[in-house]
Amino acid sequence: MKELQFLSKYPFLNSSKDYVLENSISVDDLLNDPIYERARTIGIERLDNAFDKKNVGKRVLVSETDHIMELLSYPIARMIAVCIGDVYFLKRYALSEAINAYNNLKLEEIDSMIKVSKEFNLNVFYSEETGKISIHFVDYLNHAPTRYKKWKMINRSMIKGDIAIHRKDLARLIQEALRSRINEELDGKKCSKNIFNVFKEDIIRIQNKVKLHRKNIENTPVGRIDYKKLPPCIKDIISAIQSGENVPHMGRFAVVSFLTSLKLSTKEILEIFSRAPDFEEERTRYQIEHIAGDISSTAYKPPGCDKMRTYGLCPTDKVDDLCKKNRHPLSYYKAKWYKESKKK
Ligand code: SF4
Repeated sequence: MKELQFLSKYPFLNSSKDYVLENSISVDDLLNDPIYERARTIGIERLDNAFDKKNVGKRVLVSETDHIMELLSYPIARMIAVCIGDVYFLKRYALSEAINAYNNLKLEEIDSMIKVSKEFNLNVFYSEETGKISIHFVDYLNHAPTRYKKWKMINRSMIKGDIAIHRKDLARLIQEALRSRINEELDGKKCSKNIFNVFKEDIIRIQNKVKLHRKNIENTPVGRIDYKKLPPCIKDIISAIQSGENVPHMGRFAVVSFLTSLKLSTKEILEIFSRAPDFEEERTRYQIEHIAGDISSTAYKPPGCDKMRTYGLCPTDKVDDLCKKNRHPLSYYKAKWYKESKKK
C-alpha cells in the first residue's frame, strides 16, 4: 500500500507504468471497463483543473482503490490531452502536472526525493553526515531556471563539479525536468480514434473552453497599445507567446523591446505575457526589466526589419504596403497611427 501511495502521487514514474503492466490493465480496460470509471472521471478532472487552476489538483485518497484510480487517471488524462490537440492546452497541462509533483515533493523525505530524481537521471548526492544535498553541475544547468538571480551559477557554491542545493531546489529541478519531459512526450502525438470516441463530449467541451479563452486573449487590449496598429511581425510573436508556442529568445526580445520603446510599463507587458499557458511571473519580469534597462546598464532598442528578417521573425506572407514603406516595426506602428488619425 505504501508503494501504491507513492505511485499515485508520482504517476509519471516508470514504476507506475510497471504497475499497470504487472496488473495487465490494457488501454481498452482503461477506456471501457466500468471498474475504471472513477479513473476516467479523475482523468477529466486533472485536465479541467490544469486549465482552470494551473494544477491538476489533489484528491482525498484513503483506500487502496482510491490510490489505484488516482494512478490510472494520469495515463487517461494524457491520452485525452493529446486529443484536445491544442499546443496552449498541452503546455498548460504539462506545467500543471509538474506543479502538482513539486507540491508533493516539497513534503517528502530526502530519500523519496532522490528516488524521484533518479527517474530523470539527475546525479543527486546526499550526505547523511552533514545533511547537505548537491547535484552535478551539468544536471543543474539542464534544469535550473538560471534566468533567476538565485539560480545563477555565480550565486551557488560548486565543489568538484557538484553544486550545493536545498531540498526545495531539488523539488524545483524535478518540476522543470518533468515539465520538459511531458511536453516532449506529448508533442506531435496523434489522437487515437477510440480515445476520442469515449471522451468525445469532454474533449469538445474543453476544446471550446480553450477556443473561448484564446478569443478573449485576442480581444483583450495590449496595454495602452492599439492591437490593430501593430506590425504583422509583432502581432505574430504576441499571438505565438499567448498560444504557448515556442518563441525563440530573439522573438521575445523583439516584442519586449518594441513595447518598452512605446513606454508600456513592466506591469502592462507582464499582463500580455501572463496569457501564456506556462507564464512565470518572476522570470518574465526579470527579462522585461533587463531589456528595459531597469536592472541593466542598457535599455535595448527593438530590432529593425532587416534584423527581423535575418532571424526569421518577419512573416513575409503578411508584409503589407506599410511594411514596404518602413524599415522598422516601430516606424510601421507610428505610420499606422498617423494614417488612421488623418482619417478622423
Ligand atoms: S517588414 Fe518589418 S514591420 Fe513589416 S512585418 Fe516584417 S519586420 Fe515587421
